[in-house]
Amino acid sequence: MYLHGTSKINAKGHLEIGGCDTTELAKEFGTPLYVVDEALVRQRAREYVEAFRASGLNFQVAYASKAFSVMAMCAIAEQEGLSLDVVSDGELYTALQAGFPAGRIHFHGNNKTPEEIVMALDANIGCFVVDNFTELKLLNALAGEKGKKANILLRITPGVEAHTHDYISTGQQDSKFGFDLANGSAYRAVKEAIEQPNLVLLGVHSHIGSQIFEVEGFKMAVDKVAAFAIKVRDELNVTFKVVNLGGGFGIRYTAEDKPLPIREYVKAITDAVISNFTAAGFPLPEIWVEPGRSIVGDAGTTLYTVGTTKEIPGVRKYIAVDGGMTDNPRPALYQSKYEAVLANRANEPAEETVSIAGKCCESGDMLIWDLDLPKANIGDLLAVFCTGAYNYAMASNYNRIRRPAVVFVKDGQADLAVKRESLHDIVANDVIPQRLRKAPTGK
Ligand SMILES: *Cc1c(COP(=O)(O)O)cnc(C)c1O
Repeated sequence: MYLHGTSKINAKGHLEIGGCDTTELAKEFGTPLYVVDEALVRQRAREYVEAFRASGLNFQVAYASKAFSVMAMCAIAEQEGLSLDVVSDGELYTALQAGFPAGRIHFHGNNKTPEEIVMALDANIGCFVVDNFTELKLLNALAGEKGKKANILLRITPGVEAHTHDYISTGQQDSKFGFDLANGSAYRAVKEAIEQPNLVLLGVHSHIGSQIFEVEGFKMAVDKVAAFAIKVRDELNVTFKVVNLGGGFGIRYTAEDKPLPIREYVKAITDAVISNFTAAGFPLPEIWVEPGRSIVGDAGTTLYTVGTTKEIPGVRKYIAVDGGMTDNPRPALYQSKYEAVLANRANEPAEETVSIAGKCCESGDMLIWDLDLPKANIGDLLAVFCTGAYNYAMASNYNRIRRPAVVFVKDGQADLAVKRESLHDIVANDVIPQRLRKAPTGK
């Protein structure tokens, strides 16, 4: 069993996280339940900040809030000195309601609506990451109407694509995001940006992928961005003050995953920046990164109650839990793999190989295939690890299943960060149009 953060097995043989016995958490808050190891979230945030401090460069570590956007998480990001990425009015609203300083909010997205842009301008956010020519014109016009100047980065597609162990350098990248570097559209975007009176061009942004386990892709991206910065300086007399290298730093979901320590990703990036820019006599830019998964992913654990069992002799044994693709769609979407234990019998040896099914009306609603467990009984507690990122954030009400609660645990204390949805919540936005209502009876 791989225990990380503050997770351990206590004297009762129960899984404990943040000093809280998970069986007690299940009793108090019900299941399914997302449990967040607050100390581990803070530790991950500090690993980034400390690694950047060691480089001597100016920096911002922007938590990509799409990984897990709730007000309590924004509060922690604020306290740890992080900046925050948002990609919708909902994420922006969450951050602002949490009291996150607007000046440290960066707005991403390939199709920000005029309403979202106005909301962000009114809030005086720190930066817009402009994705395309339409947005460039729109943002300039809307900022002008408000008599404001908007700070921007231009999102470029550097032609480096990284996924876990593979990274490829492509001439022209087929992506819905950003200005292409190879075909000259990034260059044209710089020219247009500096002509817009209501925009202040701070620099460029690049994001090369997710769950990346090597530094090579980041180094290639820095090389391309630096070469572009130098060309732009020499030909257009524009000096980028900020270079944003995006997110995508990998985490360990299962033993197959071998991420690097955070400081190694950061060091590879900062070393590459320092060598490329120094060699060109370029003032060292401020470096921004945008980790999402690697801040919250391994700090999350989902607790489920075991329900029914179905055994197909010689084929497989299914163990069903009281959640599934509604609280964790990643296995169904991406064939993602997870590890899990029986939290109430965590010191018992595995006796059989089973597969964990969700409760949705969908054959694809499987959480884990071929998991070694002690013989599980109805009422046992299953803990699935590494569910902090893109789980609650991607949860749905399919089958009108209620979204679980989220608790933050630390030093033996458990605090609700999101309430479990009620049955009332399920119908709260439903309306029966008058013409569908039953005629009054008795007339
Ligand atoms: C998704 C995304 C991130 C965060 O990715 P992680 O894999 O969660 O670190 C950062 N920047 C951009 C632009 C993204 O789209």
